[in-house]
Amino acid sequence: MSEKWKFIEDEIQKLKDDGVYRKLPVNYGPCDNEIELDGRKVINLSSNNYLGFANHPRVKKAAKEAVDKYGAGAGAVRTIVGNQDLIERLEELLAEFKREEAVICFQSGLNCNIGTIQAVTAKGDLIVSDELNHASIIDGVRLSQADKAIYKHNDMADLERILKKRRKDYANVFIITDGVFSMDGDLADLPRIVELAKEHDCLTYVDDAHGSGVLGESGRGTVDHFGLHGEIDFIVGTLSKAIGIVGGYVATKQSVKDWLLHRARPLLFSTALPPAATAATIESVKMLMESEEHTEKLWANAEHFKKSLRDLGFDIGESETPITPVMIGGEAKTMDFSKALLDEGVFVSGIVFPTVPKNKGRCRVMISAAHTRENLDKAIAAFERVGRKLGVI
Ligand SMILES: *Cc1c(COP(=O)(O)O)cnc(C)c1O
Repeated sequence: MSEKWKFIEDEIQKLKDDGVYRKLPVNYGPCDNEIELDGRKVINLSSNNYLGFANHPRVKKAAKEAVDKYGAGAGAVRTIVGNQDLIERLEELLAEFKREEAVICFQSGLNCNIGTIQAVTAKGDLIVSDELNHASIIDGVRLSQADKAIYKHNDMADLERILKKRRKDYANVFIITDGVFSMDGDLADLPRIVELAKEHDCLTYVDDAHGSGVLGESGRGTVDHFGLHGEIDFIVGTLSKAIGIVGGYVATKQSVKDWLLHRARPLLFSTALPPAATAATIESVKMLMESEEHTEKLWANAEHFKKSLRDLGFDIGESETPITPVMIGGEAKTMDFSKALLDEGVFVSGIVFPTVPKNKGRCRVMISAAHTRENLDKAIAAFERVGRKLGVI
């Protein structure tokens, strides 16, 4: 062992001692209802491909045609020559879909947060953030010159307490929250956040990565679900989850878009989305705008699965979305549960500390419109067998 790398090798040994060292599973084919994981066909209950668009024939066709017309790469950042007309078209389409004034696209949802928060906040501002917000929001806040305050998860009394105490000391105050919280599937209390923002003259910022394509009319998101169009100042969405491809966007005012085009660092310093991805995304969004069949199938699948697990006696938390956390408890038991499901041909990743609190380990099921009833019923039977064997039910 070389001494030079001891500082890393010691850390890796610590991961192994703690039993959290892992190899990445390899998928040998497309992301779909069934996947070829480590060379074996299993039912996939762990992707964010909520609508099955990642491997949809219409979406793949659009990607192939774009490669023929536009090539494989954008060739530069958007501010130089990477701004292919496809991206402009996608932004117009998304603004229409989201029913908001303007949309600006980034290379991912993570890039939206690390680029936007930093660009729109300044010294003398305050960011007030839910304690369970996504890592990309946390990183965005770290890059900002503003002060920060954290409120207890979805605790509106705590948020109000912070605003009452600190609002007066700052120029702009931004309230930032996930729309849907990814580990539990619960929703932010956006109606109350909007009220508090009005009362205390704050700006509102919602990261709706797990709400876009899932909640609201044809998947228009959590803001549409609550009927709050025009009330949220920044709505972040991802194109990598329900939309099925890669990328992210911020729906906001035209003036904010203009500013971000000048100051958001991922736009200025990182190459634009490849044309195949942009064209595929346009097709996905069109499919959502044409019909509600995709979101309806997703919700019907989720309801069937959740009801079946609840009837079997599983604790599936308080999810209000297709995210289904099957609560197991201890870290080792959660990982054993996940392994036993895999032996049954069902892939569900175990999620444990530090991603969730200690002894709140869970197998988090992500339901998709791509699942057939047969897929789900096989998975439910596997959950029943493993649940009895490990004494969870
Ligand atoms: C997944 C996720 C992101 C990151 O989106 P990508 O497009 O995959 O970068 C950002 N925010 C939240 C809340 C997410 O769940």
